Amino acid sequence: MSPKVYDVAICGAGPAGAALANIFASRGIKTALVERQSDFSKEFRGEGIMPTGYQALKDIGFDLKKMEIPMEVNRRITVYYRGKHLIDPDPPGFEDGLIWVSQPALLEYMIQQCQKYENFGFYRGHRVKDVTYQEGRVNGLCLVNNNQEFNIRAKVIIGCDGRSSTLRRRLNFEIKDYKQIIDIIWFKIPYPHDFLKRGTAFANIVPNGLMVCPACYDDKLQIGWIIAKGSYKELNKQGEEAWISEIQKTCPPELFDHLEKSKGNISNKFVLDVGIDRCKSWNKNGVLLLGDAAHMMNPVGGQGINIALRDAIVAANHLVPLLKKDHSNKAIDDAFLEIEKERLPEVIAVQDFQKRPTTIVRKQSTTTTFLIKNIRTISKSRFVRKILSKIANLIFYGKTEVEIKV
Ligand SMILES: Cc1cc2nc3c(=O)[nH]c(=O)nc-3n(C[C@H](O)[C@H](O)[C@H](O)COP(=O)(O)OP(=O)(O)OC[C@H]3O[C@@H](n4cnc5c(N)ncnc54)[C@H](O)[C@@H]3O)c2cc1C
Repeated sequence: MSPKVYDVAICGAGPAGAALANIFASRGIKTALVERQSDFSKEFRGEGIMPTGYQALKDIGFDLKKMEIPMEVNRRITVYYRGKHLIDPDPPGFEDGLIWVSQPALLEYMIQQCQKYENFGFYRGHRVKDVTYQEGRVNGLCLVNNNQEFNIRAKVIIGCDGRSSTLRRRLNFEIKDYKQIIDIIWFKIPYPHDFLKRGTAFANIVPNGLMVCPACYDDKLQIGWIIAKGSYKELNKQGEEAWISEIQKTCPPELFDHLEKSKGNISNKFVLDVGIDRCKSWNKNGVLLLGDAAHMMNPVGGQGINIALRDAIVAANHLVPLLKKDHSNKAIDDAFLEIEKERLPEVIAVQDFQKRPTTIVRKQSTTTTFLIKNIRTISKSRFVRKILSKIANLIFYGKTEVEIKV
């Protein structure tokens, strides 16, 4: 059977791939989207959406505030130091809070919208195994489903296949790796209503780390517990009750009993091998990488989804007009370069910001400890507020203007 032919084939239906497919399909571009998972909940990803991500989704046609999918708005933040209350920060730009949204529900909804278009093909539960070439340029994807292999063809191939990207590996993209010294254990426990008001994100700074805990849509508190890189194997041997006991050593007394009761009621466990990297070029042999596949983000500031969505918008702005008319491979390659050029300043700014806090938190120097203990006073200084405001601006609103133009 001869391969099906598309204008665009996208590998990976995470936020970048699903967003891009929506824009392409709704503009009449013949689009294939390939996702290895049959069930989106099998793939663990972040759930925090910043105002930039909210706006990007709204631009594409998904206004979270008007959608009936599971979400929780974190309207308050409370920070503790070694189990004692330190500060309830109210960063500039935080007025509307941060939305924690079920990614499986959101992605499923986005795919349903794509499926309204006849020019859209969704290959659910299909893994991209390899690429196919014509005269040295990638012209298709090799898919596997239930041990059956077949190919699809496309004029443009886009890899949105995340941090362990197959396309990145297959095409040997050159990568700059910014080593990180932490990993994170993520899990959820029932929401501690006796301790936290609904919709409150909680953080506890401890001598060699941090616990970051957003309120989630499923009446759960998600615990992100920072550990030394590579120490998970040892912690895993001890078992999850040992994790809780470890956390209890430095947690506020009001949370201690709740954690005790939560033993045996832990869900959504995931160990995140924290990393930051970036492909030196985002395109090769006719393939463009976007989202985590092009630049893996660490979880600081909850930026990955937001950046991935904004990548998709910029890519669509450049590619939709080209795909609607006859185009040369050179025109496509030039567009790939323009997309990278437009997105790079924001990606670099966010990754540069993300590099430092993990080390500062893990290796707390005397100065860091002093600053943390006196944060209430220090944060009143105009100079510090100016720096905080600059950081908040980057995290909440991004560095560059991104809007749909097609
Ligand atoms: C535990 C955790 C917490 C995080 N917290 C946040 C947060 O709060 N806010 C935030 O913004 N970011 C967060 N992040 C980061 C965020 O999840 C990612 O940056 C974001 O999902 C990247 O989107 P993406 O579309 O590029 O890739 P992904 O979301 O990784 O999607 C890639 C998709 O490609 C599919 N795929 C991979 N290989 C193949 C293949 N060979 N064939 C077919 N399909 C394939 C995968 O199944 C997946 O669905 C977190 C990440 C983790 C792991």
